[in-house]
Amino acid sequence: MSKSLQAIRGMNDILPEQTPLWRYFEGTVARLLDNYGYKQIRMPIVEFTELFKRSIGEVTDIVEKEMYTFEDRNGDSLTLRPEGTAACVRAVLEHGLTGAGQPQKLWYIGPMFRHERPQKGRYRQFHQIGLEVFNIDGPDIDAELIVLTWRLWGLLGIRDAVKLELNSLGTSESRGRYKVALVEYLSAHLDKLDEDSQRRLKTNPLRVLDTKNADTQAVLVNAPKMADYLDDESRIHFEGLKARLDAAGIPFVINTKLVRGLDYYSKTVFEWVTDKLGAQGTVCAGGRYDGLVEQMGGKPTTGVGFAMGIERLILLLETLEQVPEEISRQVDVYLCAFGEAAELAALALSEKVRDQLPNLRLQINAGAGSFKSQFKKADKSGALYALILGEDELAQQVIGFKPLRGQGEQQNIAFDALAAHLATCVVQG
Ligand code: ATP
Ligand code: MG
Repeated sequence: MSKSLQAIRGMNDILPEQTPLWRYFEGTVARLLDNYGYKQIRMPIVEFTELFKRSIGEVTDIVEKEMYTFEDRNGDSLTLRPEGTAACVRAVLEHGLTGAGQPQKLWYIGPMFRHERPQKGRYRQFHQIGLEVFNIDGPDIDAELIVLTWRLWGLLGIRDAVKLELNSLGTSESRGRYKVALVEYLSAHLDKLDEDSQRRLKTNPLRVLDTKNADTQAVLVNAPKMADYLDDESRIHFEGLKARLDAAGIPFVINTKLVRGLDYYSKTVFEWVTDKLGAQGTVCAGGRYDGLVEQMGGKPTTGVGFAMGIERLILLLETLEQVPEEISRQVDVYLCAFGEAAELAALALSEKVRDQLPNLRLQINAGAGSFKSQFKKADKSGALYALILGEDELAQQVIGFKPLRGQGEQQNIAFDALAAHLATCVVQG
């Protein structure tokens, strides 16, 4: 294939052999969120660039160097969304969903775009499922967000492989006081900081805390801790959250260096991390952002949310071999018909059966073929049973029923009795 007909680096096709796992994952999450009372919202993939600058913050990795930004034909600057929170807040404000202090528990799913260096678990188009809750202030809802992800890890069979890290960034006032102390301390050790951290010290000092540089990390050992600067409100909130996680039996570790990449967080921040995926170990991350809605032009409205990276969770399911076998079987019954008359009868019969068994996964052979070739296709389809309709069967108004996996003799079933018979042997999903 010529080079121009390849996909863009870091933007992947999800092939037919992979989609069953994606659908299993997405279906599991969607059911869980329904059960916890969250409602889905769907936002556009493209927004005005200004939205992300204002919400995510000008001096973040995302806005500084990762956005796909372009001018459209009207001369407007547009950006492929790098994350979902900004657009969700925009939509909520635009449609008045949080007016008069009304609570909202929302979720979304879809592709996000960031111009990063593609590698395992890090792509330029990737997919997130995100939750955002508005106008619920207490630690109970922060806890619910964590509790439901814990349940999700349980449903997926990956609980043992993920660890919860937790921190509180305080209110913006307490964070402001902490920033002053941190800048003072780091400035006194300026020569020992890496170049990036020296720059961040001026633009976004909290980000120095999550440096990967060993020398800077050594300096940070004795740096002031946010925990010592929390005001009463933030401390009580954090204690309330920890008490609820204890009550739910969810283990966690406090990571005082956890600050998250985006500017808008306050109070609770958390990450679910795994050591099974190499460097790209964060599978789900979020926190509280009580100031964001107001910063974006709305009335004061508290918010808390998280986003999980679907690719990383899919990788984790594969790595841990937690892919349920049955999800890739998409055919229950494969119908083979031989000759024009039998094909016509098979079509009519199968439509009747579908009327009676709407969930039956019935595949009819297409493209005719010999007995041998149709049977091969039946077997390859993964079907549990084959149905066989030739001239002889047609003359007697019966169809051959043959189990393809395991025991059972072939038998003839009358046309009229076929649906009832299939209902007894095929699990109806
Ligand atoms: P990281 O530190 O790995 O860059 P982040 O802090 O930038 O992550 P968030 O913006 O919090 O990530 O996004 C939430 C989740 O989305 C991440 O925890 C991760 O699972 C996933 N994610 C983020 N960026 C990517 C990417 N480029 N490719 C695949 N998944 C991603
Ligand atoms: Mg990132």
